[in-house]
Amino acid sequence: MIAPRMTAPLAQRLLDGDRRALARAITLVEDDRPEGWDLVREVYPHTGKAAVYGFTGPPGVGKSTLIGALTKARREAGRSVGVLSIDPSSPFTQGALLDDRIRLTEHFLDQGVFIRSMANRGALGGLSEAALQAALLLDAAGREDVFVETVGVGQAEIDIIDHADTIVLVLMPGSGDSIQALKAGVMEIPDVIVINKADHPLTDTMVREIRGVLSLANLDGDDAHARCSAEHSGAPKAKRWRVPIVKTEAAHGKGVDELIAQLDAHRAHILGEGTLQERRGRNLRNEVLAIATARLRRRLEDELREDADFKRLLEEVIERRLDPASAATALLERHRG
Ligand code: GDP
Repeated sequence: MIAPRMTAPLAQRLLDGDRRALARAITLVEDDRPEGWDLVREVYPHTGKAAVYGFTGPPGVGKSTLIGALTKARREAGRSVGVLSIDPSSPFTQGALLDDRIRLTEHFLDQGVFIRSMANRGALGGLSEAALQAALLLDAAGREDVFVETVGVGQAEIDIIDHADTIVLVLMPGSGDSIQALKAGVMEIPDVIVINKADHPLTDTMVREIRGVLSLANLDGDDAHARCSAEHSGAPKAKRWRVPIVKTEAAHGKGVDELIAQLDAHRAHILGEGTLQERRGRNLRNEVLAIATARLRRRLEDELREDADFKRLLEEVIERRLDPASAATALLERHRG
């Protein structure tokens, strides 16, 4: 018989690095079950040790292949690895299809590798929230390197990527939209840029274009690092990280050593300059606010569902007698009183 409340033993098994406990724990947070939140509360003091790398970029550029190659290299170096693949664009696959998509099949039997896909956006606070909790669980379970993969560029809702210690943008020759997104500031400047499928003849053209965008950002003093330091203007100015562009052919393992060297260099940089702590502090602040905001919204919606005054207010807006902002003001004033 399984005891109805398994939280304590599950937490212990999780902290011991038990893969089945980890899988169960992630399902609990994904399903937004109270036991999931209890579990995260219990193990949270044990987190903060993993190195978290976020990979973003358009579909098909080779993120999964690249993570597969990195996983292999990290395992050879004796490190344990966790992989989270986040794909909100396929809410109905519930992981199954995604697991096929991930080019990590050779690692499925390795106890030192834990792979999980998440596509469920039904949870409170959304997929990003659940993914963040899942990353914490991987961390608590002692995974030394955590790779988080998300599809898409500049999608604000996938802010899990912001919680990574190192953000890697993966592109391939011809993915011009992403350069536009960088240029337009839709996307923050990542820490490392990878051009995969670098055997393509347009690779060097792309490298030049990206260098152009980066140097523009540097001239403005508006790169990710400068922004980060500006918030703490009292502190001594941190040395600026220069965003490297790494050419890879993930499918053939080419350039992977160079990418690892750059990931290590970035980690050494953020540890040396104190920016890791700064970055994590800022991200945790956003996280607390995001959860609080989601809960406030849910509370408000619950309270207003059958509220006659609110219905009347909405009718006035629909009949163009009251504008939406004034209606919101009236709603909040009443709510406060
Ligand atoms: P993701 O959607 O960004 O995760 O991309 P995948 O890792 O699934 O890769 C998409 C396709 O590109 C797959 O068929 C890979 O085998 C292929 N691919 C990955 N890396 C390379 C590469 O360096 N060169 C070439 N030609 N194909 C690659």
